[in-house]
Amino acid sequence: MNPAIDDTHDPALTSWVTSANAPASDFPIQNLPFGRFRPKGSQAPLRIGVAIGDQVLDLAAAGLIVTNDMNALMANSAQQRRQLRQAISAFLRAGSAGTKARACIVAQADIEMGLPCRIGDYTDFYTSIHHATTVGKQFRPENPLLPNYKWIPIGYHGRTSSIGVSGESFHRPNGQTKALDSKVPSVGPTRKLDYELEIGVFIGMPNERGEAVTMQEAESRVFGLVLFNDWSARDIQPWEYQPLGPFLSKNFASTVSPWMVTTEALAPFRSAFVRPSGDPEPLPYLDSPANREAGAFDIQLEVWLQTAKMRDSGHAGDRLVTSNFNDAYWTVAQMVAHHTVNGCNLQSGDLFGTGTLSGPRPEQAGSLLELSQGGEKSIKLSNGEMRTFLEDGDSVVLRGYCERTGARRIGFGECRATVLPTRATLTT
Ligand code: CA
Repeated sequence: MNPAIDDTHDPALTSWVTSANAPASDFPIQNLPFGRFRPKGSQAPLRIGVAIGDQVLDLAAAGLIVTNDMNALMANSAQQRRQLRQAISAFLRAGSAGTKARACIVAQADIEMGLPCRIGDYTDFYTSIHHATTVGKQFRPENPLLPNYKWIPIGYHGRTSSIGVSGESFHRPNGQTKALDSKVPSVGPTRKLDYELEIGVFIGMPNERGEAVTMQEAESRVFGLVLFNDWSARDIQPWEYQPLGPFLSKNFASTVSPWMVTTEALAPFRSAFVRPSGDPEPLPYLDSPANREAGAFDIQLEVWLQTAKMRDSGHAGDRLVTSNFNDAYWTVAQMVAHHTVNGCNLQSGDLFGTGTLSGPRPEQAGSLLELSQGGEKSIKLSNGEMRTFLEDGDSVVLRGYCERTGARRIGFGECRATVLPTRATLTT
């Protein structure tokens, strides 16, 4: 029995918030994800809540926490986090409700969600070998997978100011591009706007500068996971990315889902970390028995596309792909251990992106760049529309959930955002 599994994961548990007991709910009492909310349309300060069914438990109103500073809450030790989870679970269990408890519940329909915390630094990794290989072939046909890939969890530092929360819209970015058959570049709206299906990892307990976090401690530094869409401009990217890596093709917008699903909630959905035979084993600082045994997360992922025409006709959108975080080449613990091996200090509220989570099969592609084979192959949608890259008015929705025999299904909610036409006026 996994020691991280306790009575809060019991699949038989139910809540007095009856919507949480519906089998299809992403937020049963076994999940208890954290987010920040306020009354819809208000400018009130954000409060910390836990999603339960189609409602939210206001933690401070329930007397379960004393401040509404999410970053401070996230900095708690793993033991404090488990204690809080126990207390919230006990509070919400069927049979435990008094009139006072019901007063701490708010309908999700009546609130708006903020970013889950104050996001500090943002690092984007590149953990899917399937994505790295497919994209590498397009950018460097002669040399798709660089020799460091199987040794280092590759990453770069991104930008936090342009990260928004699900439900947002953003403008199609302008940028400099150069067509292969053109001698000089030009500037204008990207014609190859894409999404990237990723998971976001929020750091909880910080480490001091100079302190390398070991594999054994790495997961105690992680607070929770969200869905993460790292929007990308595929025509800006190839012209700018050498020699220093992605820049303006990536930093105009990224979108997170509002609910942080904790590593505690994900305990029943762990899998072994395995390398294909013949691949090098990780260096010792990226290896541990626990990581080999259960370092990966079994999270089912989906990308949905809803065009403006679909929205106008009440069409919920098409599911373009499914994928799974299990197929990543590096684990969350390895990302933390590698990021700090040089003594880099992570802070509560720092965000890691996993990189685009494509699976081994073509229909598991985590971006349109892969799905449309670099824009060569149009994708036909169920209402007859065609896409290679995103058009103005398109909404992309990421979904994620965990399902296993013997455990209650839990979900991440959704990560949704819509593309607006270019805003800036440029002298071209
Ligand atoms: Ca990315």
